[in-house]
Amino acid sequence: MKKGHRILVVGGLAAGPSAASKAKRINPDAEVILIEQSPFISYRICEIPYYLSGEYRDTDDLVVYSPERLTKDKGVEVWTETDAEKIEPEKRQIILRSTVTGKTRTERYDRLIITTGSKPKKLSFANSEHKNVFSVKSLHAAYALRDYIHERKPRRAVIVGGGYIGLEMTESMKKLGCSVTLLHRHDYPFTDIEREAGEKIVDELERNDIDFVPQSEVTGFEIEGRDNVSAVVTTSQTYPADIVICAIGVSPNTELALTAGIKKGLCNGILTNSRQQTGVEHIYAAGDCCEIRNIISGKHVLLPLATIASKTGWVAGENAAGGEATYSGAIRNVAIRIFNLEVSRVGLTMKESHNAEFQPFTKTITAFSRVAGMPNAERLTVSLIANKSDGRLLGATLIGRDGAVQRGNILAALMRFGHSVDDLSNLDMMYAPPFSTLWDPILVAANQSIKKVERVS
Ligand SMILES: Cc1cc2nc3c(=O)[nH]c(=O)nc-3n(C[C@H](O)[C@H](O)[C@H](O)COP(=O)(O)OP(=O)(O)OC[C@H]3O[C@@H](n4cnc5c(N)ncnc54)[C@H](O)[C@@H]3O)c2cc1C
Repeated sequence: MKKGHRILVVGGLAAGPSAASKAKRINPDAEVILIEQSPFISYRICEIPYYLSGEYRDTDDLVVYSPERLTKDKGVEVWTETDAEKIEPEKRQIILRSTVTGKTRTERYDRLIITTGSKPKKLSFANSEHKNVFSVKSLHAAYALRDYIHERKPRRAVIVGGGYIGLEMTESMKKLGCSVTLLHRHDYPFTDIEREAGEKIVDELERNDIDFVPQSEVTGFEIEGRDNVSAVVTTSQTYPADIVICAIGVSPNTELALTAGIKKGLCNGILTNSRQQTGVEHIYAAGDCCEIRNIISGKHVLLPLATIASKTGWVAGENAAGGEATYSGAIRNVAIRIFNLEVSRVGLTMKESHNAEFQPFTKTITAFSRVAGMPNAERLTVSLIANKSDGRLLGATLIGRDGAVQRGNILAALMRFGHSVDDLSNLDMMYAPPFSTLWDPILVAANQSIKKVERVS
């Protein structure tokens, strides 16, 4: 790559700063510019639920890098309050609009990296006039929610959506003193979770006075005055609300990419190769706006996670600066705390395993996380999903008050490299009474699962 090349990165939250910093490190002579439509870049979005409840109080502010600091520390120029509207790939230029003045201008690039992320899905009948309906997809939205809570002191919160963000916000609103109703489409929180794990989560919610309503399809709002939602209406009941938080998922934000004719995949995310190159010359993409390859199923999927956004950002940044990095894909590896429960979900669900044409079976065991009778010893439930014909590990859910998350990471490592329940059974897990048991719960789960493998020779 020639000296003085110009690399533009659109999107300044997780993947973008990662891509821009990496590009500058690989080619210090390049002019690297980060473009972001909001006033903020590089902030701690995952901490927002804990910031709102007051649990996260390490800092006044959620911003990791201000634009000035990114420039000073990483040598990346930053243009905030700048919306990228259109790409003209044949001229290698992009049209930008200031969100402050409304003025447009055209900028050239040698390499462009799209990290426009994802957008929160909206209820079809919700609109921006509804002053007490919030999502938590940006710092701006989090500050609006924080201010509303402080000024209006809501007592009744209704959360729509029982995925991990809905669950985090449920806990957060409860800690702020609200009575909380959590409306969810399925029988248990998340999608396709094993019954045992689902029941444990619902028990924990109920123990903490959360009104969890399964199988609830939200159909409308009742409005008080001009723009205040006073209740959430479902197909079966109406739930009074002072505040409503929508957490019904996200979809990839591909509007800008489409202006360049970039191709989308079956899940509506941008398709890239393993170097994070799109099909359009000189344009890379990374983060939530992209589909990624699920290593276990081999399929292209959406996995909107900060870990993946940062890694794919690095790869795009390195390659845009002339490097040779590749991203091989991911398995889903997600942890969440629900009040006093740790939950970790790794790899494929049963449904996804069937869709990927495995012959999956599942085995669930419960065992102590440390020697029973030692401090903090708790029951841990482990559900393993494996392939019937060869015992390959496909997925797992771990749930308990102690030790679910780090054991989930061990399973994630095995799944990434295609290991089986036999390999898991042979792992040398540490044993000492304060930390674990002679037969660690994941080894117990493996030994029980091996019995269900029907090997074909
Ligand atoms: C409340 C919450 C908690 C989360 N917790 C976790 C967690 O615990 N662990 C985990 O791994 N992940 C978590 N995530 C997911 C994680 O935050 C996302 O996967 C990650 O932020 C994706 O980064 P991204 O840069 O690809 O996209 P985004 O974060 O969506 O950022 C895209 C950026 O691009 C900007 N942009 C979009 N279009 C344009 C345009 N045309 N011009 C200029 N700028 C534009 C947007 O303003 C935005 O700043 C959480 C998400 C939320 C909302």
